[in-house]
Amino acid sequence: MSADRRAELAANLERVRARVDAACRAAGRAPEDVTLVAVTKFFPASDVAHLAGLGVRDVGENRDQEAGPKVAELDPQVRSALTVHFVGQLQTNKANHVTRYADVVQSVDRAKLARALDRGAGTALAEGARHTPLGVTVQVDLEEGADRGRGGALPEDVPALVEAIDGCEHLDLRGVMAVAPRGLDESGTRAAFDRLAALSERLRQDRPEAWWMSAGMSGDLETAVAAGATHLRVGTAILGSRVSHG
Ligand SMILES: *Cc1c(COP(=O)(O)O)cnc(C)c1O
Repeated sequence: MSADRRAELAANLERVRARVDAACRAAGRAPEDVTLVAVTKFFPASDVAHLAGLGVRDVGENRDQEAGPKVAELDPQVRSALTVHFVGQLQTNKANHVTRYADVVQSVDRAKLARALDRGAGTALAEGARHTPLGVTVQVDLEEGADRGRGGALPEDVPALVEAIDGCEHLDLRGVMAVAPRGLDESGTRAAFDRLAALSERLRQDRPEAWWMSAGMSGDLETAVAAGATHLRVGTAILGSRVSHG
Protein backbone atom coordinates (compact mmCIF):
# COMPACT_ATOMS: atom_id res chain seq x y z
CA MET A 1 0.00 0.00 0.00
CA SER A 2 2.67 2.42 1.10
CA ALA A 3 4.81 1.78 -1.97
CA ASP A 4 1.73 2.29 -4.16
CA ARG A 5 0.95 5.54 -2.44
CA ARG A 6 4.51 6.73 -2.82
CA ALA A 7 4.40 5.94 -6.54
CA GLU A 8 1.08 7.76 -6.87
CA LEU A 9 2.44 10.84 -5.12
CA ALA A 10 5.62 10.71 -7.22
CA ALA A 11 3.58 10.64 -10.45
CA ASN A 12 1.32 13.49 -9.30
CA LEU A 13 4.30 15.54 -8.19
CA GLU A 14 6.03 15.01 -11.50
CA ARG A 15 2.94 16.23 -13.37
CA VAL A 16 2.67 19.32 -11.17
CA ARG A 17 6.36 20.11 -11.55
CA ALA A 18 6.00 19.78 -15.32
CA ARG A 19 3.08 22.23 -15.21
CA VAL A 20 5.14 24.69 -13.15
CA ASP A 21 8.10 24.32 -15.51
CA ALA A 22 5.92 24.91 -18.56
CA ALA A 23 4.26 27.93 -16.95
CA CYS A 24 7.67 29.37 -16.08
CA ARG A 25 8.93 28.83 -19.60
CA ALA A 26 5.85 30.55 -21.02
CA ALA A 27 6.36 33.48 -18.64
CA GLY A 28 10.12 33.71 -19.17
CA ARG A 29 10.74 32.91 -15.52
CA ALA A 30 13.19 30.50 -13.90
CA PRO A 31 11.50 27.46 -12.30
CA GLU A 32 13.82 27.75 -9.29
CA ASP A 33 12.27 31.13 -8.51
CA VAL A 34 8.96 29.41 -7.77
CA THR A 35 8.48 27.41 -4.57
CA LEU A 36 5.97 24.60 -4.55
CA VAL A 37 4.14 24.26 -1.23
CA ALA A 38 2.35 20.90 -1.04
CA VAL A 39 -0.87 21.44 0.90
CA THR A 40 -1.30 18.19 2.85
CA LYS A 41 -4.49 18.99 4.78
CA PHE A 42 -6.76 15.93 5.22
CA PHE A 43 -3.85 13.64 4.35
CA PRO A 44 -1.74 11.73 6.88
CA ALA A 45 1.78 12.33 8.14
CA SER A 46 2.89 9.31 6.10
CA ASP A 47 2.08 11.28 2.94
CA VAL A 48 4.15 14.19 4.21
CA ALA A 49 7.04 11.78 4.77
CA HIS A 50 6.66 10.38 1.23
CA LEU A 51 6.66 13.89 -0.21
CA ALA A 52 9.75 14.82 1.79
CA GLY A 53 11.43 11.73 0.37
CA LEU A 54 10.46 12.90 -3.11
CA GLY A 55 12.21 16.23 -2.62
CA VAL A 56 9.35 18.40 -1.39
CA ARG A 57 10.71 21.00 1.03
CA ASP A 58 7.56 23.00 1.81
CA VAL A 59 4.23 21.74 3.11
CA GLY A 60 1.05 23.59 3.96
CA GLU A 61 -1.73 22.92 6.46
CA ASN A 62 -4.92 24.83 7.10
CA ARG A 63 -6.41 23.53 10.36
CA ASP A 64 -4.63 23.84 13.67
CA GLN A 65 -6.32 20.80 15.21
CA GLU A 66 -5.07 18.58 12.42
CA ALA A 67 -1.72 20.19 11.73
CA GLY A 68 -0.24 20.16 15.24
CA PRO A 69 -0.45 16.40 15.81
CA LYS A 70 0.54 15.68 12.20
CA VAL A 71 3.75 17.69 12.38
CA ALA A 72 4.53 16.13 15.79
CA GLU A 73 4.17 12.69 14.24
CA LEU A 74 6.92 13.31 11.68
CA ASP A 75 10.35 11.83 12.14
CA PRO A 76 12.52 14.68 13.53
CA GLN A 77 14.87 14.43 10.58
CA VAL A 78 12.00 14.73 8.12
CA ARG A 79 10.54 17.61 10.11
CA SER A 80 13.77 19.55 10.21
CA ALA A 81 14.14 19.32 6.43
CA LEU A 82 10.70 20.87 5.89
CA THR A 83 9.27 24.36 6.05
CA VAL A 84 5.76 24.11 7.48
CA HIS A 85 3.34 26.80 6.26
CA PHE A 86 0.05 27.44 7.99
CA VAL A 87 -2.32 28.70 5.27
CA GLY A 88 -5.81 28.54 6.81
CA GLN A 89 -8.02 31.01 8.58
CA LEU A 90 -6.80 31.32 12.12
CA GLN A 91 -8.66 32.27 15.28
CA THR A 92 -6.66 34.44 17.65
CA ASN A 93 -6.99 31.89 20.45
CA LYS A 94 -5.21 29.27 18.29
CA ALA A 95 -2.31 31.55 17.41
CA ASN A 96 -0.17 30.50 20.33
CA HIS A 97 -0.43 26.82 19.45
CA VAL A 98 0.39 27.38 15.78
CA THR A 99 3.70 29.03 16.73
CA ARG A 100 4.72 25.68 18.27
CA TYR A 101 4.94 23.86 14.95
CA ALA A 102 4.66 26.30 12.02
CA ASP A 103 7.61 28.02 10.40
CA VAL A 104 5.42 30.44 8.47
CA VAL A 105 1.83 31.64 8.87
CA GLN A 106 0.59 32.83 5.47
CA SER A 107 -2.88 33.88 6.58
CA VAL A 108 -2.23 36.97 8.70
CA ASP A 109 -5.18 39.25 7.95
CA ARG A 110 -5.51 41.48 11.02
CA ALA A 111 -3.31 43.26 13.56
CA LYS A 112 -4.87 41.43 16.49
CA LEU A 113 -3.81 38.09 15.00
CA ALA A 114 -0.31 39.41 14.28
CA ARG A 115 0.07 40.46 17.92
CA ALA A 116 -1.21 37.10 19.18
CA LEU A 117 1.26 35.27 16.92
CA ASP A 118 4.04 37.56 18.14
CA ARG A 119 3.28 36.77 21.79
CA GLY A 120 3.09 33.05 21.00
CA ALA A 121 6.34 33.07 19.05
CA GLY A 122 8.03 34.99 21.87
CA THR A 123 6.96 32.40 24.41
CA ALA A 124 7.90 29.50 22.13
CA LEU A 125 11.36 31.02 21.57
CA ALA A 126 11.89 31.55 25.30
CA GLU A 127 10.89 27.96 26.00
CA GLY A 128 13.03 26.54 23.23
CA ALA A 129 9.95 25.26 21.39
CA ARG A 130 11.11 27.21 18.35
CA HIS A 131 14.44 28.70 17.35
CA THR A 132 13.63 31.25 14.70
CA PRO A 133 11.17 34.13 14.38
CA LEU A 134 7.84 33.24 12.82
CA GLY A 135 7.64 34.03 9.12
CA VAL A 136 4.39 35.69 8.10
CA THR A 137 2.67 36.83 4.94
CA VAL A 138 -0.24 39.23 4.79
CA GLN A 139 -3.31 37.55 3.34
CA VAL A 140 -5.05 39.94 0.96
CA ASP A 141 -8.73 39.85 0.03
CA LEU A 142 -8.91 39.97 -3.77
CA GLU A 143 -12.69 39.95 -3.97
CA GLU A 144 -14.48 42.93 -5.43
CA GLY A 145 -17.85 44.49 -4.72
CA ALA A 146 -20.28 42.70 -2.42
CA ASP A 147 -17.97 39.72 -1.95
CA ARG A 148 -15.31 41.77 -0.18
CA GLY A 149 -14.55 41.04 3.44
CA ARG A 150 -14.79 37.24 3.59
CA GLY A 151 -11.13 36.50 4.09
CA GLY A 152 -7.94 38.45 4.09
CA ALA A 153 -7.12 42.09 4.68
CA LEU A 154 -8.70 44.55 2.27
CA PRO A 155 -6.03 46.01 -0.05
CA GLU A 156 -6.44 49.47 1.48
CA ASP A 157 -5.80 48.02 4.96
CA VAL A 158 -2.54 46.30 4.01
CA PRO A 159 -0.18 49.22 4.84
CA ALA A 160 -1.55 49.49 8.40
CA LEU A 161 -1.26 45.73 8.88
CA VAL A 162 2.32 45.79 7.60
CA GLU A 163 3.06 48.50 10.16
CA ALA A 164 1.52 46.42 12.93
CA ILE A 165 3.68 43.46 11.91
CA ASP A 166 6.72 45.74 11.94
CA GLY A 167 5.99 46.37 15.60
CA CYS A 168 6.13 42.64 16.35
CA GLU A 169 9.55 41.58 17.56
CA HIS A 170 9.19 37.86 16.79
CA LEU A 171 7.55 38.08 13.37
CA ASP A 172 9.42 38.20 10.11
CA LEU A 173 7.42 39.65 7.20
CA ARG A 174 7.93 37.64 4.00
CA GLY A 175 5.32 39.15 1.66
CA VAL A 176 1.73 38.73 0.56
CA MET A 177 -0.64 35.85 -0.05
CA ALA A 178 -4.08 35.46 -1.57
CA VAL A 179 -6.65 32.98 -2.76
CA ALA A 180 -8.25 33.76 -6.11
CA PRO A 181 -11.88 34.85 -5.90
CA ARG A 182 -14.28 32.07 -6.80
CA GLY A 183 -16.22 31.84 -10.00
CA LEU A 184 -13.94 33.89 -12.22
CA ASP A 185 -12.72 32.85 -15.64
CA GLU A 186 -9.03 32.83 -16.43
CA SER A 187 -8.83 36.52 -17.32
CA GLY A 188 -10.72 37.49 -14.17
CA THR A 189 -8.37 35.38 -12.08
CA ARG A 190 -5.41 36.94 -13.85
CA ALA A 191 -6.74 40.42 -13.08
CA ALA A 192 -7.10 39.47 -9.40
CA PHE A 193 -3.54 38.08 -9.27
CA ASP A 194 -2.32 41.23 -11.03
CA ARG A 195 -3.83 43.29 -8.19
CA LEU A 196 -1.88 41.15 -5.74
CA ALA A 197 1.28 41.56 -7.82
CA ALA A 198 0.88 45.35 -7.71
CA LEU A 199 0.55 45.24 -3.92
CA SER A 200 3.57 42.96 -3.73
CA GLU A 201 5.63 45.34 -5.84
CA ARG A 202 4.69 48.29 -3.66
CA LEU A 203 5.65 46.35 -0.55
CA ARG A 204 9.00 45.31 -2.02
CA GLN A 205 9.92 48.91 -2.78
CA ASP A 206 10.16 49.56 0.96
CA ARG A 207 11.31 46.12 2.03
CA PRO A 208 12.95 43.91 -0.57
CA GLU A 209 13.09 41.07 1.96
CA ALA A 210 9.27 40.73 1.84
CA TRP A 211 9.31 39.36 -1.70
CA TRP A 212 6.95 36.43 -1.45
CA MET A 213 3.84 36.45 -3.56
CA SER A 214 1.91 33.35 -2.55
CA ALA A 215 -0.85 32.66 -5.05
CA GLY A 216 -2.04 29.82 -7.21
CA MET A 217 -3.52 26.45 -6.33
CA SER A 218 -4.19 23.24 -8.28
CA GLY A 219 -6.64 24.90 -10.68
CA ASP A 220 -4.92 28.20 -11.35
CA LEU A 221 -1.20 27.74 -10.83
CA GLU A 222 -0.35 28.65 -14.45
CA THR A 223 -2.20 31.95 -14.11
CA ALA A 224 -0.43 32.66 -10.83
CA VAL A 225 3.01 31.96 -12.33
CA ALA A 226 2.20 34.28 -15.24
CA ALA A 227 1.25 37.01 -12.76
CA GLY A 228 4.53 36.60 -10.86
CA ALA A 229 3.73 34.25 -7.96
CA THR A 230 6.79 33.06 -6.05
CA HIS A 231 4.95 30.46 -3.95
CA LEU A 232 2.26 28.07 -5.18
CA ARG A 233 0.03 26.22 -2.71
CA VAL A 234 -1.00 22.98 -4.36
CA GLY A 235 -3.14 20.33 -2.68
CA THR A 236 -5.44 18.25 -4.87
CA ALA A 237 -3.13 17.98 -7.88
CA ILE A 238 -0.43 16.39 -5.69
CA LEU A 239 -2.34 14.56 -2.95
CA GLY A 240 -5.54 13.70 -4.80
CA SER A 241 -9.14 14.54 -4.02
CA ARG A 242 -9.85 15.36 -0.40
CA VAL A 243 -13.48 14.18 -0.54
CA SER A 244 -12.68 10.49 -0.33
CA HIS A 245 -10.46 11.13 2.67
CA GLY A 246 -13.12 13.15 4.57
C1 LIG B 1 -6.48 23.83 0.44
C2 LIG B 1 -5.77 25.07 0.13
C3 LIG B 1 -4.95 25.16 -0.99
C4 LIG B 1 -4.77 24.03 -1.99
O1 LIG B 1 -5.90 23.93 -2.80
P1 LIG B 1 -6.00 22.88 -4.00
O2 LIG B 1 -7.09 23.43 -4.86
O3 LIG B 1 -6.34 21.56 -3.40
O4 LIG B 1 -4.70 22.85 -4.70
C5 LIG B 1 -4.28 26.36 -1.19
N1 LIG B 1 -4.42 27.40 -0.37
C6 LIG B 1 -5.20 27.36 0.72
C7 LIG B 1 -5.31 28.55 1.60
C8 LIG B 1 -5.91 26.19 1.01
O5 LIG B 1 -6.71 26.15 2.09
